[in-house]
Amino acid sequence: MKRFDGKTALITGAQRGLGLEIAKHFALHGANTVLMDVSDAVIGAAKEIEFKFQTKSIGLKGDVTKIADCANIVQKTLDSFFKLDILVNNAGITRDNLVLRMNEKDFDDVININLKGAFLMCKAAAKTMLKQREGRIINISSVVGQMGNAGQANYSASKAGIVGLTKSLAREFASRNILVNAVSPGFIMTKMTENLKEEAKEKLLEMIPLKRLGMPEDVAKAVLFLSSDDSSYITGQNIAVNGGIYL
Ligand code: NAP
Repeated sequence: MKRFDGKTALITGAQRGLGLEIAKHFALHGANTVLMDVSDAVIGAAKEIEFKFQTKSIGLKGDVTKIADCANIVQKTLDSFFKLDILVNNAGITRDNLVLRMNEKDFDDVININLKGAFLMCKAAAKTMLKQREGRIINISSVVGQMGNAGQANYSASKAGIVGLTKSLAREFASRNILVNAVSPGFIMTKMTENLKEEAKEKLLEMIPLKRLGMPEDVAKAVLFLSSDDSSYITGQNIAVNGGIYL
């Protein structure tokens, strides 16, 4: 018997990076997975997961900023798996610039996808979870939401907002046994961080007590913990997976 046998996990922004790694970890531990992303590549990613882990997986194209897409993704999850146990709000973008050069669109796009998108998906999933009287929601925030970062006013605001959203929903849903937590990764090796210049990477390593960038699986393992029976008395928390860069 695997840890997540019979569970259904829906992960947004799952065609690559952290989202894909999280989906693979759920599949490895027996869960059926629904991968959602704006990119068509998510369909192939789900097929690969099915093939590799011999669990059911579907890839659905959708945009977390569109309320109709969010409702549709949840409905399709129910059509295939009849329940939704775990939602991971992972979809996110960066549009970095110093604030005087940051245009309004780049501010709005980041807030819309990173924060409003998570709100819309929580709203869509909560209807089902409230009826089930059970569920887990894990929102992916960032260390930058905790400590700020020059050039990322939009991104850090969106990620700090995720923590407020998480704590409020934890309070709203606790009586129905829906646990809502956040995970705040530090600097993890994905496409989002691959463009960091060598010099910037070296500076970062000096600041990280564990002296390495994080791996996607470091984040996936924290998400699985917060989705499992081992964390059944934990809600409204923000778990840092950052190598100690912010304590
Ligand atoms: P990534 O490789 O850029 O993956 C993000 C995924 O989200 C992409 O597949 C992207 O698709 C998708 N996406 C973008 N807009 C979307 C929308 N409107 N609806 C649905 N999907 C959408 O990023 P990552 O590094 O894996 O990061 C995943 C999450 O972790 C993000 O929330 C990020 O902020 C957070 N995080 C990452 C790090 C890090 O070091 N990597 C650190 C802290 C927090 P397209 O590319 O096709 O648009």
